[in-house]
Amino acid sequence: MSTRTAVITGASAGIGAATARALAKAGFHVVLGARRLDRLQSLAAELSGTAHQLDVTDAESVASFVDQIPECHVLVNNAGGARGLERVDAADEEHWRWMWETNVLGTLRLTKALLPKLVASGDGHVLTVTSVAGHEVYDGGAGYTSAKHAQSALHRTLRSEHFGEPIRITEIVPGMVETDFSLNRFEGDAERAEKVYQGLQALTAEDVADVIAFAATRPSHVNLDQIVIKPRAQLNGSRFHRT
Ligand code: NAP
Repeated sequence: MSTRTAVITGASAGIGAATARALAKAGFHVVLGARRLDRLQSLAAELSGTAHQLDVTDAESVASFVDQIPECHVLVNNAGGARGLERVDAADEEHWRWMWETNVLGTLRLTKALLPKLVASGDGHVLTVTSVAGHEVYDGGAGYTSAKHAQSALHRTLRSEHFGEPIRITEIVPGMVETDFSLNRFEGDAERAEKVYQGLQALTAEDVADVIAFAATRPSHVNLDQIVIKPRAQLNGSRFHRT
């Protein structure tokens, strides 16, 4: 069989970079997209993959990214994240706009642009990294949880819209993963970000990447619809066991 191509968004850090490594190890040619091209290029060199700059919030950037990809068997919609932790009565519209643009419209843009290539491959697969925040709510989280709920709804609709076509649809639903996620959420406040992970063993980016690679390497008649992965010390979006 010829080499299958996997496109990973947000591959410059965290879960996306670990997923690129796991999929390359599983035999995929990996195409990496994110805004920080220097990081992508060094990872692509390590994995014999391809790096292209990508800003999922910019339609032109998405079009030029997709134009450079001749074929696509697997798309991992991973680019995203959170900004702020304000209650609704103190919501920051710029934070909301960032979260909706990146998580929701970013996933829409990449998926819409690559669907023809995924279906044409004869064995396509869209995996979207949502979050437990896509299925629950918590105080201060409405901007993020609403974006992740919308991203999850968009993703799950694909299963029905493309039912009968040669394409699989898998939602990856992680709980707490220790990455730059909190540092970015709190806009560089390292002390505040560190507190998020104190007293418990969070998932690593590699833990999530392993599960993504597992789903992407099942035989083509096997569709893992939804996979929820949390640290043992996390019950839900707001309850943690800390020591
Ligand atoms: P991270 O380390 O902050 O990585 C985020 C990635 O998204 C980076 O590679 C970043 O690359 C990329 N990105 C951000 N804005 C982008 C844009 N406009 N265009 C293209 N790429 C963009 O966080 P992470 O934890 O790995 O997060 C990955 C995904 O997992 C996100 O969707 C997040 O919501 C989800 N998730 C995370 C957790 C967690 O606890 N960490 C839990 C559940 C779900 P550039 O900055 O180079 O563009």
